[in-house]
Amino acid sequence: MHVDGYGARDVDVVVIGAGQAGLSAAYHLRRRGFLPRPDDGGGTRSFVVLDADAAPGGAWRHRWASLRMRTVNGIHELPGYAVPAADPEASARDVLPPYFAAYEDRFDLHVQRPVRVHAVRRADGDPHGRLLVETDRGNWAARFVINATGTWTKPFWPHYPGQERFRGRQLHVADYVSADEFAGQRVIVVGAGISAVQLLDEISRVADTVWMTRREPEWAEEDFDIPARVAAIAGVEERVRQGLPPGSVVSVTGMHWTPWAREAQARGVLVRHPMPSSFEEEGVRMPDGTFLAADAVLWATGFRAALDHLAPLHLRLPGGGLRVDGGRATDEPRLFLVGYGPSASTIGANRAGRAAVSAIVGDLDARMSDVA
Ligand code: FAD
Repeated sequence: MHVDGYGARDVDVVVIGAGQAGLSAAYHLRRRGFLPRPDDGGGTRSFVVLDADAAPGGAWRHRWASLRMRTVNGIHELPGYAVPAADPEASARDVLPPYFAAYEDRFDLHVQRPVRVHAVRRADGDPHGRLLVETDRGNWAARFVINATGTWTKPFWPHYPGQERFRGRQLHVADYVSADEFAGQRVIVVGAGISAVQLLDEISRVADTVWMTRREPEWAEEDFDIPARVAAIAGVEERVRQGLPPGSVVSVTGMHWTPWAREAQARGVLVRHPMPSSFEEEGVRMPDGTFLAADAVLWATGFRAALDHLAPLHLRLPGGGLRVDGGRATDEPRLFLVGYGPSASTIGANRAGRAAVSAIVGDLDARMSDVA
């Protein structure tokens, strides 16, 4: 394969994704003198940000309406520009996308959208050793790729026997809009994470809910304080260094008694049931043989990293993860993963964006001094 045969545009860095992670990386590229355009051959370092979404905001555009500024777990602003003061009752999805849009304008990031990356592959035979980034709107040949595609586009649905026979509605948290649509219904909420508990609390106010999880949730009484966070992140860092999948959010943070969890507990909503042995047309059959009728099942079962477009690089190990050390793919040093594993939080994504750009600048500078 030769780059020229692909008609690929040259650029130093392609950033894939314009959520918290991608915009943080783009900001730091801008600060380090990269310009948001194809390489014009004039020696100026260049980057492009490609985003599949129709408008700014990353995952925040799609989160449910009742995720309010007061109920998000602490938004860390994008680097260099504070989140404007917002009504704590305002929906995060109303407040944050305009902030992201203003950010892109303010720092002149020229995000290209909607552009979906289908594949990143090695440009074999390319004398410049670039990576080919193939999109639905042309291809790019990049010295480095910063992958910042998040998880929102890859909801995880587990499979249970008979699930396809169930005649009621099944939806994932990624498709949830508001509790109103379940008014008066019998709703099974599946999942042991923060979103399951938050949505149980609100849906149970208008519907009959049943909470199901694979294992008995373990509630942590102590706060998830800074030393606990540091230890949890170090654990994830070590997992991805070894090439293991990062694990679910709750496996890292544990379940904590948030105000809404306490309210749900006080109203008797947090009664956990085991997963059913099978689904039937009108409900579920429980392991003890009893039948539970249901109108809807809400799968609050988390997300996986959206990395399918990296498949041609063959980085996945049999265990399902890829080896990442300090944000860089161990088995493809031209690739950085920002917002993955230990950096899959707003604050982590900010830091990882800066670190990836520093590493890229270091590599480019080293190449230039080799040439000189
Ligand atoms: P995203 O915001 O998802 O951005 C990824 C972007 O990449 C999207 O615009 C997408 O369209 C684009 N993209 C994906 N695939 C492609 C492709 N192939 N080609 C081109 N573009 C592509 N973290 C916190 O710190 N605080 C919170 O309160 C918080 N609340 C959360 C609530 C929920 C329900 C969830 C699921 C997560 C929450 N998180 C929170 C974690 C959160 O995911 C991160 O903090 C952060 O918002 C993710 O940013 P990101 O840039 O990695 O991903």
